[in-house]
Amino acid sequence: MTTDKPIKNIAVIGATGSIGTQTLDIAARHPGLYRPVALTAGSRVDELVRLARIHRPRLAVIADESRYRDLCRELEPLGIECAAGADAIAEAAALPEVDMTVTATVGYSGLLPTVKAIEAGKEIALANKETLVVAGAFIEQLLAESPSKIYPVDSEHSAIYQCLKGEDPSAVSRLYITASGGPFRTWQRERIASAKASDALKHPNWSMGAKITIDSATMMNKAFELIEARWLFGIDASRLSAVVHPQSIVHSMVEFSDGGIKAQLGVPDMHLPIAYALGCATRLPGAERPLSLADLSELTFEKPDAERFPCLTLADVALRRGGNSACVINAANEIAVAAYLRDRIGFYDIYRIICETLDRCDFIASPGLSDYIQTNQTAREIAGSLL
Ligand code: NDP
Ligand code: MG
Repeated sequence: MTTDKPIKNIAVIGATGSIGTQTLDIAARHPGLYRPVALTAGSRVDELVRLARIHRPRLAVIADESRYRDLCRELEPLGIECAAGADAIAEAAALPEVDMTVTATVGYSGLLPTVKAIEAGKEIALANKETLVVAGAFIEQLLAESPSKIYPVDSEHSAIYQCLKGEDPSAVSRLYITASGGPFRTWQRERIASAKASDALKHPNWSMGAKITIDSATMMNKAFELIEARWLFGIDASRLSAVVHPQSIVHSMVEFSDGGIKAQLGVPDMHLPIAYALGCATRLPGAERPLSLADLSELTFEKPDAERFPCLTLADVALRRGGNSACVINAANEIAVAAYLRDRIGFYDIYRIICETLDRCDFIASPGLSDYIQTNQTAREIAGSLL
């Protein structure tokens, strides 16, 4: 494609994951627009090497320091600089030549790279919702003091961003975050209680990493998205609602003061929201799969059921309590989900472990970065002891 826009250098934090690889797909399709200059991964060194051979970044970083030598052996002969460890990943997010940082790592590990990218004034395509869950108030404050801007990748938040474009913010009365309802939407509570990770990993509409797929089954993902919307759009929790929409065609909606509702529709495919964020809320040509409206038989909406999916109620708990509560919830959830994925605990143990961890952790009303780091550590230890 021909364009007069300068090439944008991107750092892809979590390049080997579901969002990371789709981001690199889009960059490869538009070589005149995007140049990946830094790629990072957690521990899958072979996958990072494979992607670095294709996309030829200047820097490749692996979180797991024990894999550093393997990385160097493969990539240094190609002239690609290598590094390892969480600090090196945070530095990669803020390299001087980076224009945009794509934070596509999973869980708490997204926080420090995003903080560094904001401090360095980068544009940010934010997939890692846990950053805003863990430390929303702190990130809001950092953004107020930085030229940095966040473009949401999460499909619901991208939809809301698209609906808000050109609108008067004071005319917004409610944000509706849609939820597919996950694989257990129609199951009875008793059946859900004995569901295994292999059942929960069968998401009906979206293909995603394992952690977010379990979060979708418990609806913790929707609770996180309500918290994410609170901080992204600066809207009070009382004006945020989740609504179940099993077809995942309406990606979210905004209601205005005159009663009008705007929605964004599309096939369930992350390429669109990723590309929209990469373009800083502009549109790239070349739809992955256009939506065929004539083939849609129905679009339905229903109330979420907090009885069968109690994790959904944790958004309200976190936003009402504030402080470090959401950081505790996120940490406990990460530990519980990892245990559930290994079939060590049952489905509803995830909610129980989060609530018990929340009861046992000290409350901090106005946490700074070091408090979030400490809270994350303590909450993980407590949750681990409850497994
Ligand atoms: P994946 O599990 O597919 O990928 C996670 C990425 O993070 C991988 O590159 C992984 O490396 C890396 N990683 C894992 N642990 C660490 C660590 N401790 N330190 C550094 N890097 C690490 O996740 P997804 O792509 O599904 O999700 C990424 C984020 O985007 C999540 O926050 C999720 O909630 C959000 N999101 C995802 C959507 C999706 O469709 N997938 C939709 C909306 C939001 P390695 O491969 O080596 O393990
Ligand atoms: Mg989402």
